[in-house]
Amino acid sequence: MSIMTSDSGRYRGRFAPSPTGPLHFGSLLAALGSYLEARSRGGEWLVRMEDLDPPRELPGAADDILRTLEQYGFEWDGEICYQSQRHEAYRAVLADLLKQGLAYRCNCSRREIATRANQLGLPSGVYSGHCRSRRVSPQQQHAVRLLSQHPPIQFTDALQGAQAQDVEREVGDFVLLRADGLFAYQLAVVVDDAAQQITHIVRGSDLLDSTPRQILLQRQLNHPQPHYLHLPLARNAQGQKLSKQSFAPAIDTRNAVPTLWQALHLLGQSPPEELRRVDLGDLWDWAQRHWQASPIPRKLDPISPI
Ligand code: GLU
Ligand code: ZN
Repeated sequence: MSIMTSDSGRYRGRFAPSPTGPLHFGSLLAALGSYLEARSRGGEWLVRMEDLDPPRELPGAADDILRTLEQYGFEWDGEICYQSQRHEAYRAVLADLLKQGLAYRCNCSRREIATRANQLGLPSGVYSGHCRSRRVSPQQQHAVRLLSQHPPIQFTDALQGAQAQDVEREVGDFVLLRADGLFAYQLAVVVDDAAQQITHIVRGSDLLDSTPRQILLQRQLNHPQPHYLHLPLARNAQGQKLSKQSFAPAIDTRNAVPTLWQALHLLGQSPPEELRRVDLGDLWDWAQRHWQASPIPRKLDPISPI
């Protein structure tokens, strides 16, 4: 990836899908919201393929997602960043954090972590910091965790409002490098948002809970903090988030106009009825001229996508 420079102060947004399957309606909402926020403010919009976790990926899914975005009329700026090509950058950041004592190696098993949380009365899943003062040898299989001793993180989400999380108490020192050797999403997303000079992050609210961890890591790395807007999640009739796990269907590439119309409508915009049957270009034209973030609902009722 070539790192692009941008005029300071210019809006730069992004869409960062994981290629675990084709684009479904839930990810279309994230693509659309991030795109229109960027374009309506004269900003740039970048696409980053978060292909960090090969076992969870579906061969061909990355190309399939990009083709679908094109068929829907999305136009991205610059080259696509593939996280699979960014390992050197992640490794360098990890080495630096370890050297500064801001991260440490941990070889606790899942079971040990659960048992210790239980003994210490921590909420389940919270890491106790057991390996902070241990010296786990780099030769042993290990994860790397960020030292998360930090006052509670507070930020204002442009849609979801004031947020606060005490990462140390509610999550614990979190993983940057997994014990299986894969880089963690939290590390890669922070490194790449900074490398791509992203100023505004618009994404699904399933990631609202990850944001304080990302802000904490940004602070440890002296990165600027982007603005955040977490969109409501599309849920199926059973109330589950649309995802690969809930078997969300791929969006129909032959039906882009009505599908985009519905997505706009769900994001609180008021596209006129007759725009359900126009050319894609006319719908985009309307969308870019009329887009507003203020009517986006914080939550959505269960839907059955078309
Ligand atoms: N790759 C993540 C996902 O598809 C999104 C990351 C982000 O937008 O920060 O859930
Ligand atoms: Zn440990």
